[in-house]
Amino acid sequence: MVGIAVAAGLIATAAFYTSHQESSVLAQNERTMRKLTESVIEGLQSVMLAGSADIAQAFADRLKRVPEVEDFRVLRVDGLEAFRDNSTIEEVNERRGEELFLPRDSEQRIRVLDHRDPNLLKVLDSKSILTIYDEDQNGEPTLTFLSPIANQKPCHKCHGSAKPIRGVLKLTTSLAQVQRDILRARQDSLLVLVVALTGTMLLTGFMLGRSVVGPIERVTQAMSRASTGDLDHQVPVGSRDELGRMAQSFNVMTAELRNTYDGLRREQDKLTTIIRSAGEGIVLTDGNGAVVLVNPAAERLLAKSREQIAAEGLEALLDDPASMRAWLADDHAEGPVTVRYGPNVLQVFASTIHASDGHVVGSAALLRDVTEEKRLEDELRRLSTTDGLTGLFNRRHLDATLDTEWHRAARNHDPLSVLMFDVDHFKIFNDMHGHDQGDRVLCRVAAIFRDTLRGHDVACRYGGEEFLAILPATPSKGAMAVAERLRAGVAASEVDGLKVTISVGVATVPQLAADSPKHLLELADAALYEAKRAGRDRVRMAGDGGAQLADA
Ligand code: GH3
Ligand code: MG
Ligand code: MG
Repeated sequence: MVGIAVAAGLIATAAFYTSHQESSVLAQNERTMRKLTESVIEGLQSVMLAGSADIAQAFADRLKRVPEVEDFRVLRVDGLEAFRDNSTIEEVNERRGEELFLPRDSEQRIRVLDHRDPNLLKVLDSKSILTIYDEDQNGEPTLTFLSPIANQKPCHKCHGSAKPIRGVLKLTTSLAQVQRDILRARQDSLLVLVVALTGTMLLTGFMLGRSVVGPIERVTQAMSRASTGDLDHQVPVGSRDELGRMAQSFNVMTAELRNTYDGLRREQDKLTTIIRSAGEGIVLTDGNGAVVLVNPAAERLLAKSREQIAAEGLEALLDDPASMRAWLADDHAEGPVTVRYGPNVLQVFASTIHASDGHVVGSAALLRDVTEEKRLEDELRRLSTTDGLTGLFNRRHLDATLDTEWHRAARNHDPLSVLMFDVDHFKIFNDMHGHDQGDRVLCRVAAIFRDTLRGHDVACRYGGEEFLAILPATPSKGAMAVAERLRAGVAASEVDGLKVTISVGVATVPQLAADSPKHLLELADAALYEAKRAGRDRVRMAGDGGAQLADA
């Protein structure tokens, strides 16, 4: 751009200079020729005053031979060439009344200009020299002067004083040489222009290269090096102008980037150390799903090598791609899931990682070994719902289960029975055989109780030496049969040669109009009391008509 601007300036200057030179050459030429014309008129005047028209004619003819003079004629005011015919001689002789001038032997009437020629009339009118630029028959440029010859006082004697102008001098010079000079000057100017332009362009290019392109190139190279991670490269700051400031800003920017990058790398190192030493298994993928990080804990928990995990991909991490796909898709909206994997129980949290603009940058799976936790939890649950001595469910579990079964029975219009029994005279047994022996008996009774019931019946230790069973979907008849089988089983067994008996109370809905689980238990308890009262080692059914005796 700078080169083009400079070149345009130079061309404009050269064009202006050339055209100015041309016009000044033409003007100079015109001035010279005008002077010449004026001198010729002076000369002619002198010759005419000497009274010799022939000499004037000879003067004119000689002048024609001057190089550059194409034509020279002396005209009369009617446009005919003077000194060619006898009309002026006759006129003068007549005015003078004597044969002052001898007539010519041969006359020629040469019309040079029409007597109404506008240029001729203009000269006669203005009485001053007229300049005409024209072309000759060869197409060469010409300059013609039409100069009036004033009728001065010394002329009046021969020519009279009537006309202010006695004739017109016509001098035509060729401008071919001037034109050639102009052309040469033009060619010289063009040559100078080309040399100046070439020099200017070279100088401009050199200066631009030194002051602009070089520094920009250095910054560009440094930028491309920075883009490939080389942030240590500094650009030399050569000047205080914009380019210098740009280089300086670039250096500050790369220094800042280096600091940030170093900081990030330190943070990444920390993070990697944490991830590698974490007890939780961590597997990360990039945006294309390729596994990029597997920590040792993940290898240990999955019993797979890092290479195997990377080859199989995140979806096959737990050998269950469908589930993993679902977890990744809903980003574990419902929290981590617990899965069994080989001998371990793992808590898995898999999620897709999105950038702030929403596009996926990777996925992550966190694996926590909860095997021991799960075992302890199960144990705790078991302990919280079972009785330590007999292993049967405890009363807390019974209450919760009875509630559930009560509602299920009502919903399904199923019968529901409960069976409650108490060891007979157990206080005495303890007193006689000791508390430990009593415990062993209770364990045995519990075992018989458990064996007597079906799989979905729920056997509980209700407290002390009292037990209770929930018998879902069991009508009174069935419940009475179970109760009797139980009673007989206990009565028939012995522990260390010792025997005990039990009394059993049974209650069933909807046969009985119990209005709550608690009510049902009270009815069973009442039936049990009835069995005790009737002599023990027997079964009683709760009912409106009093307790019903089973076989005993
Ligand atoms: P009955 O029920 O026939 O009317 O007479 P009982 O002697 O069994 O009377 P009660 O039900 O009032 O007495 C319960 C006894 O059971 C009191 C206590 O010594 C004994 N007992 C309660 N829980 C345990 C236990 O866990 N182990 C032992 N060995 N004895 C217990
Ligand atoms: Mg009791
Ligand atoms: Mg008892």
